[in-house]
Amino acid sequence: MTNFKEIAASLKFNSVIHNFNAGPSILPREVFQQASEAILDFNNMGLSILEIGHRTDAFQSVMDEAQSLLKELMQLNDSKKVLFLHGGASTQFFQVPMNLLDDNATGAYLDCGTWGIKAIKEAKLFGNVNVVASSKDRNYSYIPRQYTIPDDAAYFHYTTNNTIEGTQVAGIPDTHVPLVADMSSDILSEEMDFNRFSLIYAGAQKNIGAAGVNIVVVDEAILGKVNRKLPTMMDYREHIKNGSMLNTPPVFAVYVCMLTLRWLKKQGGVAGIQKINDQKAGLLYSTLESLPMFRLPVPIEDRSKMNVVFTMPDVETEKEFLSVCKSNGMYGVKGHRSVGGFRISLYNALPLSSVEAITDLIKDFAQKKG
Ligand SMILES: *Cc1c(COP(=O)(O)O)cnc(C)c1O
Repeated sequence: MTNFKEIAASLKFNSVIHNFNAGPSILPREVFQQASEAILDFNNMGLSILEIGHRTDAFQSVMDEAQSLLKELMQLNDSKKVLFLHGGASTQFFQVPMNLLDDNATGAYLDCGTWGIKAIKEAKLFGNVNVVASSKDRNYSYIPRQYTIPDDAAYFHYTTNNTIEGTQVAGIPDTHVPLVADMSSDILSEEMDFNRFSLIYAGAQKNIGAAGVNIVVVDEAILGKVNRKLPTMMDYREHIKNGSMLNTPPVFAVYVCMLTLRWLKKQGGVAGIQKINDQKAGLLYSTLESLPMFRLPVPIEDRSKMNVVFTMPDVETEKEFLSVCKSNGMYGVKGHRSVGGFRISLYNALPLSSVEAITDLIKDFAQKKG
């Protein structure tokens, strides 16, 4: 009888495939292997991870390890609580103001792209929104620098990395207003003082794991201040009290996160992966900049290290480049429909070798088109 280990070992991963998908996106291959083993036999229990109770010791230890790894990798202090919730990052667009923004209070927001726009729309359902700055005037291709966050704002919300537009906020805004950040597409990709934030949220499917779970890191001190009744499932305090198991958590998605966090720790944690991420982004941007055929819409200081956006002078050449990518096993390079052109995502799990492969292809293409 063939056992699962042999099946997993016999799975042939085509080495010429390079996955630049924007999300869901590439995860470490060892995570795929371990996750598939756990579906067939979890921890040598003879049971699948999909058929055991979430309150078993076996799953409890997955949840505990996932939470403690995240705390360790983000170097969080004890007032920060780690939750694994349902509903994707998009649910946080309204769960955040529901928990933090009173009817007559004001939330300050940075309007920097597609995801931020959605967060602003939802916040308006609960209180006042003050858009302190916007980059709409230039199709969201840059990060505004000059703005004031009002002292009396309940919080300041921004998207650290604009996945679609290919921009990223450098550094942390200097304010004493509580910071709330959507870090869906760059969480754990570079070192930063995560303790500066009162609330961080991120859909797992870009840098941390499988779709179906989102991570919320919240400082307990900011909770319980709104004058509003909250549905139990929407109340962060209830989730904290219940160890992120108020109801059945997305068990498999949490497990995949835990495996990816273990992998990240082995890479030297955030500092270790940042070195490779810097190399990856540096190589791709410098290659694109050296070739006049490619246009980079984002100014250098605002460029995302996770999502590299570029266009070409005409649609015909773009089509040609896309088909060259396809025939060379380069997946997920087409730009978002709202921006056009190309987007190459360089999340943590993407190896440097994939970036080397696509830069070689880019140079080759440019030379041939001369
Ligand atoms: C992908 C993404 C989202 C949406 O995440 P869902 O989990 O699909 O709701 C929100 N914000 C950012 C920055 C994203 O990249």
